Formats: sequence, C-alpha cells, structure tokens
Amino acid sequence: MSNLETAPQERVCGGREDVSAQPVRELLTAKLVPLGGSTVVRRLLPNLGRRMVGAWCFVDHYGPDDIERSPGMQVAPHPHTGLQTVSWLHDGEVVHRDSLGSLATVRPRELGLMTAGRAISHAEQSPLEHGPRLHGAQLWIALPDAHRHTDPHFEHHPLLPEVTAPGLRATVIMGELDSSRSPGRTYSPLVGADLALAAGASARLPLEPDFEYAVLSMSGLAEVDGVRVEPGSMLYLGCGRRELPLRADVDSGLLLLGGEPFEEKIVMWWNFVARTQEDITQAREDWMNGDRFGTVHGYDGAPIPAPALPGVPLKPRGRMR
Ligand code: MN
Repeated sequence: MSNLETAPQERVCGGREDVSAQPVRELLTAKLVPLGGSTVVRRLLPNLGRRMVGAWCFVDHYGPDDIERSPGMQVAPHPHTGLQTVSWLHDGEVVHRDSLGSLATVRPRELGLMTAGRAISHAEQSPLEHGPRLHGAQLWIALPDAHRHTDPHFEHHPLLPEVTAPGLRATVIMGELDSSRSPGRTYSPLVGADLALAAGASARLPLEPDFEYAVLSMSGLAEVDGVRVEPGSMLYLGCGRRELPLRADVDSGLLLLGGEPFEEKIVMWWNFVARTQEDITQAREDWMNGDRFGTVHGYDGAPIPAPALPGVPLKPRGRMR
C-alpha cells in the first residue's frame, strides 16, 4: 500500500535511544489516515512515542470494511525503496502487480512479501469480483544498510508454518517463533506472527529476551500481559521478555511484531526508507521523472504522484520526540 498522507513529514527512526531494554506495557493509539472515500487506516507505527519495533517501521491496520458495493482497495502504482512490505489479510483478497511483472492474488493468512531493495513500484487492488469485506494490515520492514540496495523481488507464500497450543494458533509470517520458521526472506533478526486466540484461551508465548516486541490487536478482545488491547491499538512491550501471557474471553486476532533493536538511523518519507535527505530527494525525483522504479503493467489508471517534500531538511540524529 502507499502512504496516502497528502503532506507526509520526514521522520528519523531507529537507534537505541527509543528502545526500552526492560519489559514495559505501553498502549499506543492509532493516528487515523484517510484512504479515500469513507475508508480510514489506523497507523500504529511510526507513533508519537515509538517509531520502530525491531526493523518494523510502519504498521497500518484497516477494516473490517464493507466493500460489497464499492471497488474496495484501489491503490495505484507507487514506488518503494529501502524496505520490505508485508501484506497480511484477515478478510478479502488483494491483487498485487509490480514493476518486475509479478502478478499475485494474496488471500487471508497468506504472505505477500515485497522486497523493494534499491527500487520497485507496485499497485494493489481488490479484484473486480470480490467478497463483501476487507480487513488487513500493511507492514513495512526497514532493510539494513548492507542490503538496502539489493535487487527487488516479490514472494508469495500461501502456506506458512503454524505453532499451536490449546486455544492458540500462531502463524509465523516472518522470521522464527518457537523454532518454526517462515519461508519469507528476512534481512535482520525479527519475527512477525498472527495469533488466533479462541474464546477462553490462556496461553504463554515463548519470546527472545534480546528482541523488542509489540502486539497489534486486529479483532476480538484479548489481554496481553494483563493489558486489554482493543482492536486497532497496539501494546509496546520493550525487550527482556522470555514469554508473553495471553488471554481472551472471545475469539481474538493479534499480530506479534518483534526483532533485534534496529541500531541504524533511518530517514523515512512517503514510501521511501533511506539514510539521508539527499537519498529521499533523489528517490522522489527519479519517481517523478519515470526513472529507476520501472513500470507496473496491467493497472488501469495513472501512477500516484509524489507529494511535495517538506521545507525543513532533516538529518539522521539522536532522540527526537
Ligand atoms: Mn506500497
């Protein structure tokens, strides 16, 4: 998906200063971003208090939306650089087309993973004939400096490993959970897992003490380490945990995101992750000039123009709140 803010601000993220070395329980509320029509997405990362969780640098939760009488998701071609995008659905389907010629229909609990590397462009839309509901999350992972110029590629993994316990089904989206590993290619130590909790479930999930974690609620009403997390909000958990207590009185859907704290400073603007203001300016210019990002074929509509750059230049630096 594209960041559809009309005047996106440049943000500096990453580094150790923003990471809690100790377990914490910080409830993060979403910023509402209009997605055209009546749809809004709930943006959990970057957040005022927390900018990244491991290498996870962008988290949007959308729906469940009734799209029975509408075209549903219609995100025209737009560029990315320096990141991976993870498309994760609980309901509906999304057709992915990119400048490499990839064409895939991603369905609920299938991994659509796009590694932008140096440059890619893509479009995402609900199929012409589609189900009545759309519910999902769009997640971005920052690539470490050593890999951010890698060749772009797209992966579609319909089958992912599952870890189960009474009342809990965990689908490993990215990285490793309890010795089960996702086939999705990762570039830094991290995990993303979908946690389906049945009504009455009580479980303890094994964690890596060196990772920082957060849990996004997508549906139901679950308690994470004793804190009720409403759908559309996220609980930041810090580092230093070996396990995570989970409870649910009703069927609930959570996303666990975690990873080794991302030490490098990144500059994020619009759909780009870079290291300097110059990188961002160049990426914007290349997109507007039709260079570097290729062409998405098969999408009926014009590409999304880049918004104007904000006036005040930013350099990667320390703590910014
Ligand atoms: Mn996108």
